[in-house]
Amino acid sequence: MPITIFWFRRDLRLEDNAGFSAALQSGHPVLPLFIYDSDILDILEDRADARVTFIHQTILDMRGKLEAAGGTLLARYGKPLDIWKQLLQEHTIAEVYTNHDYENYAIDRDESVRQLLEKQGVVFKTFKDQVIFEKQEVVSGGGTPYTVFTPYSKKWKSQLTVADLQPRECAKHFGNLHRTEAEPVPTLAQMNFTPSQIPLPSSEVSEAILEKYAQQRDYPSVQGTTRLGLHLRFGTVSVRQLVDKARQRSETWLNELIWREFYMMILANFPHVEKHAFRGAYDRIEWRNDAGEFKRWCEGRTGYPIVDAGMRQLNATGFMHNRVRMIAASFLIKHLLIDWRWGDAYFAGKLLDYELASNNGGWQWAAGSGTDAAPYFRVFNPTLQTEKFDKAREYIKSWVREFGTPSYPAPMVNHEFARERVLKTYREALAKTTGG
Ligand code: FAD
Repeated sequence: MPITIFWFRRDLRLEDNAGFSAALQSGHPVLPLFIYDSDILDILEDRADARVTFIHQTILDMRGKLEAAGGTLLARYGKPLDIWKQLLQEHTIAEVYTNHDYENYAIDRDESVRQLLEKQGVVFKTFKDQVIFEKQEVVSGGGTPYTVFTPYSKKWKSQLTVADLQPRECAKHFGNLHRTEAEPVPTLAQMNFTPSQIPLPSSEVSEAILEKYAQQRDYPSVQGTTRLGLHLRFGTVSVRQLVDKARQRSETWLNELIWREFYMMILANFPHVEKHAFRGAYDRIEWRNDAGEFKRWCEGRTGYPIVDAGMRQLNATGFMHNRVRMIAASFLIKHLLIDWRWGDAYFAGKLLDYELASNNGGWQWAAGSGTDAAPYFRVFNPTLQTEKFDKAREYIKSWVREFGTPSYPAPMVNHEFARERVLKTYREALAKTTGG
């Protein structure tokens, strides 16, 4: 009997999952699959990467639930195309279902899998699941993608209907799971990882946080944001449920969820942003790229306490408060004149909630090179930012233990000097490209 395979990637949940729901109604028994992609995993520097531990625990948990429902979950480690070649030999596959992924690597991977499957007469069907509106579903009156957030978000809200938020039901179709022998899930050790000790945030949405979100979200000493980024990244929560909650509880928080979709839309329509400035002229900036200075920033030893607190929070927990991400990113780019891509890559290695589109959007915003970016001549002053958002130095003191003692370093660069330097560098680079 031919089967349908549902391929889980960044949608690791068994309920309200668009592609999985469709697969379960495909008319064939469904074998759920997860591939530990060796192309991605083998290049991770931290062999105790908390995100890998999180995925591994989630897969085991999902498999337990699927087994209890009479099915199983197949998990293999390797290159996706090789795994698909194995599966084509082992099973009679009628169809393969999966959810859309908008990152450049994933688009290429999916295209090569599609070609392989179609050569064997296997249908490859893909679904929108991780966003409410994708690609070109929210466009301007002229039919072009938005590049500014506010009009995009207005249009996004005006297009939203109840049907967009309807849960995509899965469990009630579990009778259609393929009943087959389970095979062992690859262990972390087999993939050359060890378990992480970093505590992982819960997927519960705190009502108390949503209630005060608009007032508290900008203050890093307060736990004023939801910390759901990791769960949104790997799909362990459904964006439909979150948007539904946001609509009822907090417009400000809804806007943040729309920012997430905005940056995914930007990446889907302008894929060059992954490696290049959205505004081409900004690729001409002559970065200083001093490796020693970069190291001090990474380690949180710049002598600017708010920057150092942020970097130390990131290194210790895999999280950094949004306000502090903006300050730390701006400092690296503008005070040290280090290429935003260096900072982007460092965050990518550390953030539990790392999301290519949002990280890239955040860094290009800070560099002034992005879609909706602050003008380049606006240079964050870390001291004024501290006065505004961490006046009592509570956040700083919680991460920089030696703050206020002689062992805390002096600022590695003078603010006014750095400001003049970056303005001159940007001005010259931008003048060069516009020819005047
Ligand atoms: P909440 O404030 O509770 O918001 C809920 C969710 O909305 C977030 O989990 C996230 O999915 C989304 N969201 C919130 N703010 C933004 C935003 N400005 N842009 C896009 N989505 C947003 N966000 C990431 O998810 N991954 C990243 O890798 C990432 N890198 C960033 C790098 C820089 C330099 C900057 C300035 C911002 C970055 N952000 C990133 C955006 C933002 O800082 C985080 O989403 C937020 O701090 C996560 O905390 P939270 O889960 O408590 O979010």
